[in-house]
Amino acid sequence: MSGASSIPKMLSVTSVIPDGLLDCESEGLADLLSGPTLLHLPGRQTAPLFVSVLLHGNEVTGWLAIRSLLQAYADRELPRALSVFIGNVEAARYGKRLLDGQPDYNRIWFSPDTPASSPEEHMVRQVVEEMRRRNVFGSLDIHNNTGLNPYYGCIRREDESFFYLASLFSRTIVHFLKPEGVQSEAFSDLCPAATLECGRPGDPAGTVRAVEYIEDCMRLTHFPDRPIPFRDIDVYHTAAVVEVPEETSFVFSSNGQGHSVGKFPEQNSPDVVFQENIDRLNFSEVLPGALWGRIEREGARPLLVRNEQGEDVTNRFFSFTNGEIRLIASVMPSMLTLDTGVVRQDCFCYLMERYSPKGNAQEKSS
Ligand SMILES: [Zn+2]
Repeated sequence: MSGASSIPKMLSVTSVIPDGLLDCESEGLADLLSGPTLLHLPGRQTAPLFVSVLLHGNEVTGWLAIRSLLQAYADRELPRALSVFIGNVEAARYGKRLLDGQPDYNRIWFSPDTPASSPEEHMVRQVVEEMRRRNVFGSLDIHNNTGLNPYYGCIRREDESFFYLASLFSRTIVHFLKPEGVQSEAFSDLCPAATLECGRPGDPAGTVRAVEYIEDCMRLTHFPDRPIPFRDIDVYHTAAVVEVPEETSFVFSSNGQGHSVGKFPEQNSPDVVFQENIDRLNFSEVLPGALWGRIEREGARPLLVRNEQGEDVTNRFFSFTNGEIRLIASVMPSMLTLDTGVVRQDCFCYLMERYSPKGNAQEKSS
């Protein structure tokens, strides 16, 4: 791939569905569109629902859902105006989250007070500004992940309308403040906003669920102002992010015993061997003492855990003695993945705690 192909053109804005778009796979969008594209479509209720898809080029469920929805409404009016932002089409061409030289399209949505440091940051500011002018009703950002995770919605604000929006998708809701620069950060200032995790890319059930959900959101006439009973939802708060330090090499083992040398002949012995089936721990309560892996090279730093303030809190969660990586606190992980590329480009996992709502919503519901 040439260097030029990784430089996105500026935003295209259109209110006409380009010929062939609704038959196009995500890999073909870069040829059909001239780059990231904002598509405005009219509907019965005029304040638009905003939906972003393919901010990560390999997470195709959002595009498949939008395509299917627009096919279904080819000859009838949408229940509400819909604005679709089709994001990193160049990365989608290659089935990648992002291409070398590109920023992560879901880490560029900073507030207008911060100076934009890339053409992509400028571009998404245009998108936000345009949606502000159009009096956006609600915002959805559709993603996939690679590990075993339930469908769930993520929100940044503790407002009732945000809980309500996410609860229409799944009873599992994650409140998060990190990472920064995500789409829902920018839109949380304008309207209720949720990020949807629709399981593995292209899973047909995830696409069906996303289509139903977008339709439900378009049909909403308003957001209820009464608190949503907390017994109806399971809310978690992301307390820390876990990374594998860049200098540490790692693999996943089938038994966690670390038979690394002969088993991985194509590479040098890895510094760390993680449990192969570790993604089964996602969204389950994991107790202190659980073995997460083994350290194969003395002195290797297997994990780095940072709290929301960015402080290194590794020692609060893990011990690294006798060559073993063990939990020393109760945690609920999410986004654990066995995909080493995703670990490098994003993170190893998030650690969550049960969310205690501010105010007395919990008491009211019990
Ligand atoms: Zn994503």
